[in-house]
Amino acid sequence: KRFPYFSLVQREPALDNVLRPKNLSDFIGQERIKDRLALIINAAKKREEAVDHILFVGPPGVGKTTLALIIAEEQNAPIKMVSAPSLQKSGDLIALLTSVEERGIIFIDEIHRLNPSLEEILYSALEDRSVSIVTGKGPGGKVLSIKLPPFTLVGATTRPALLSSPLRDRFGFIANLDFYTHEEMVKIIERSQKILGLNLPYESIIEIAKRSRGVPRIANRILKRIKDYIDLKEEKNINLEETKRVLELIGIDEKGLDELDRKILFALRDKFSGGPVGLKALAAVLNESPDTIESIYEPYLLRIGFIQRTSRGRIITPLGLAHIMGCKNDG
Ligand code: ADP
Repeated sequence: KRFPYFSLVQREPALDNVLRPKNLSDFIGQERIKDRLALIINAAKKREEAVDHILFVGPPGVGKTTLALIIAEEQNAPIKMVSAPSLQKSGDLIALLTSVEERGIIFIDEIHRLNPSLEEILYSALEDRSVSIVTGKGPGGKVLSIKLPPFTLVGATTRPALLSSPLRDRFGFIANLDFYTHEEMVKIIERSQKILGLNLPYESIIEIAKRSRGVPRIANRILKRIKDYIDLKEEKNINLEETKRVLELIGIDEKGLDELDRKILFALRDKFSGGPVGLKALAAVLNESPDTIESIYEPYLLRIGFIQRTSRGRIITPLGLAHIMGCKNDG
């Protein structure tokens, strides 16, 4: 089962890479975070030190990886990128840590999913810049301590509450990336469409901005689908009507909701008489993981006021009801 929004927010590495801003001045929005980062980077440069450890918090597709790459670029430092679930054994993490270069950067995506048994290793690497390796077994075993060069850990997470507090405390700067405003989304789309060689009319850009729910990656993926559509056409442009048709084909409605968003609203209305309902029960009915619902879908539905979280669970609001009024639940 693949839902359109999920596929829209999923990484598409080639596309993500082509459209990534390469430096802070190219990165649109998040002004306070950019100012703070510029300060941290410049101070480190001046002192010839590694940049402080940084944690980026925010929903998928809002620029966490991009900022990690920008820090590396601005520092002229090598960067190693991994996703926490790929580090399974202590050896995986130790190999990563001991391969870092002086003032290099280690980027750990989804750091809240780090195997808890590896956290100790990470603490000591961050705290004392050393890792301990045990060689041999039993009484003959030896503990070998390896010194690490000054380096920077950049973590990214959609679920900061799942990080243990000792780990969270070791970051010098925790940056909360927000959803983008409409104006910022328009700028991002203008930039991206140029890079993709498109020349969309302004009203199409506005329409895409309206439906991208404040997430640059979603806007970029919509642009890619529009480019596919234009590539198949005789006349190499598109008007507002056709733009809307492509959006409909991908399953994104005027509010930027996709199929699973609407299924959440239908389930709340039809299966739980409007709520309140707990996350687990809701996820079970939708056949989705609670984590996906909570970290990917709910934030937007909450933000536009279609659902509410109460102490007894989720409820659908009058706004949410109005949006699906007259719609049949076809799923
Ligand atoms: P995350 O790591 O938060 O999931 P990424 O950094 O991979 O998100 O960003 C996803 C895509 O969105 C990238 O291709 C990037 O080009 C684009 N993007 C994200 N933030 C911005 C921004 N502020 N300005 C321009 N493009 C952005």
